[in-house]
Amino acid sequence: MVSTVCTRCRRREAFYLRESSGEALCKQCFMKSIEEKFIRNIREYDMIKYGDSIGVAVSGGKDSLVLLRLLIKNLKKPPLTYVERILVFTVDEELEYSKHKLERVTYIRQLCEKYGIEYRIYTISSIIGVSVQEVYDKLREKGKNINMCTICGVFRRRVMNEIARREGLTKIMTAHNLDDDAQTVLLNVFSNDLKRFKWFGPITGEDVENFVPRIKPLRNIREEEIAIYAYLTGTPMLERECPYVRNNPRYLLKFLLADLERKNPNIKYMIVSFGDSLSNLLKEVKYFERKIKTGKCSICGMPTTGDICRTCELIRDAGLLDKYLLAKRD
Ligand SMILES: [Zn+2]
Ligand SMILES: [Zn+2]
Repeated sequence: MVSTVCTRCRRREAFYLRESSGEALCKQCFMKSIEEKFIRNIREYDMIKYGDSIGVAVSGGKDSLVLLRLLIKNLKKPPLTYVERILVFTVDEELEYSKHKLERVTYIRQLCEKYGIEYRIYTISSIIGVSVQEVYDKLREKGKNINMCTICGVFRRRVMNEIARREGLTKIMTAHNLDDDAQTVLLNVFSNDLKRFKWFGPITGEDVENFVPRIKPLRNIREEEIAIYAYLTGTPMLERECPYVRNNPRYLLKFLLADLERKNPNIKYMIVSFGDSLSNLLKEVKYFERKIKTGKCSICGMPTTGDICRTCELIRDAGLLDKYLLAKRD
């Protein structure tokens, strides 16, 4: 390969070609560009306001560890300096694979200690009274063919919200990247689920009662670039992938999007941008406001577009509602 000079600093040798923008970047400029994107997204979308208390969801996967590193890197920059409190937390799904992810806990704890950031670990069963495995097994027993990832995802999101409410957090920062959000758009389209676009964007769930809004400062960064950033910064990566990943509907989309991207390097950006436009449209058009009304779950009172929320639906179908309600009362 002929060596190319970095298009930013025009001094060092480039090592990465960012096809979406045509830039050729050296290691330093590449890392700087990722670090700048993080803080620029927070500022541009007004993700953090004065006095916010921010929960940072760090699972131990590479995206979440990069999120933590970027947060630390930008800790002394506004608006992060206006933050009342930062709580980094890990949700333990108590599955076999979770043990592998939890191997990163020492790394997370050491980083947090070094920079004086609070860190805690919560198990799903201690927060909602039933475990992911229990619900999965019971649903299987009843002949319901459901993905582990569906249950795990629904419960993890619920637990994050519960932690935030208990701790008085005003926002939850997550490591969703461009690939995740492009997949989400396609999944919503494939399942003909227009309603879900109401919950799409750089900030979701604002002004929804009982719901702590999510902010996603990595959502315009491609997963590949996050992996490269992780590599360059010596961030540990997980060796094994989740055993359920192949049944996850997102798995197939990963390859489909990679294929499409070869022909159009901007395709993921375009899909996400389309999702954002649709989301903004839904928020503005009165017709949809009536049609997609967020109500309260008749069992737990959490926001939902149906009669009961997904968490309660899964637990009810598994026949574990009594156990769950008992734990809720305590
Ligand atoms: Zn450079
Ligand atoms: Zn519910």
